[in-house]
Amino acid sequence: MRRNFCQIVLAVVGLLLAFLACNSSSARSSRNSGGDSSPTTVVIDAGHGGHDRGGIPGQRVAEKEMTLDVARRLKNVLSHNGYRVVMTRDSDVFVSLATRVAIANSYRNAIFVCIHFNATGRRGASGIETYFYGHDSLALASAIHYYVAGGAPSDNRGVRRRGYYVLRKTKIPAVLVECGFLTNPTEAAYAQNASYRQKLAEEIAAGVRGRNSVTRSSTRVATAESIPLQPYIDQTRVSRKSSHHRSKRSHKRSARKKKRSSKRSGSEARAASKNRES
Ligand SMILES: [Zn+2]
Repeated sequence: MRRNFCQIVLAVVGLLLAFLACNSSSARSSRNSGGDSSPTTVVIDAGHGGHDRGGIPGQRVAEKEMTLDVARRLKNVLSHNGYRVVMTRDSDVFVSLATRVAIANSYRNAIFVCIHFNATGRRGASGIETYFYGHDSLALASAIHYYVAGGAPSDNRGVRRRGYYVLRKTKIPAVLVECGFLTNPTEAAYAQNASYRQKLAEEIAAGVRGRNSVTRSSTRVATAESIPLQPYIDQTRVSRKSSHHRSKRSHKRSARKKKRSSKRSGSEARAASKNRES
């Protein structure tokens, strides 16, 4: 009887040890793959910097300052969320696109998030748009766009596919967010508000955190098939040229607009809609 009891105790202890070993190995493997099988390093790329002010000539609000501020705020939020964060620049310096890409590609298990603001000669143009290139970047683009466009009072200009240098050359999931038009008086005013920039950072971070769940659970995000590749434009010139390269196909995407600003008057909305570059 006592011997039986010992055998039972040994069996239970053995089972427990096996269970613990199994658990710790699955914990190890889930840590290696980022817990939710996702990357854990976020390379944040604040657009422009140094002599490259961003935007268009004569633009009042410097894009390079807005991108850096949002990038720093995003770094804080993601660091608090437990992500390892790398900045391609953390001051007002010029960093070449090739260097930005090289930084991104030096990390494994990482994602790349470029922060930009839009600009165009037409003041009425407004809204948030998010770019990706490789199909493995679509989930991240959709999730970030879902949160940023949903959280901002601006137009939703959709998720777009375009071969920007930093998106084409990166070997990790890469996304470029255009956080609104600094040439639009309303959006420029938003961007100059620190709490609005904090909000942008928090929405981008929410997209990073939710990059796997959004595509699985939402039908409102784009699919790769629904997003035609737009013509490649040299990123250094895109701000000036962008209005000439908008695809008419993106009119379809405007139908998916999740939210329009409730603060717009009807005439403003009509004017913006008429001026929409998409
Ligand atoms: Zn830019």
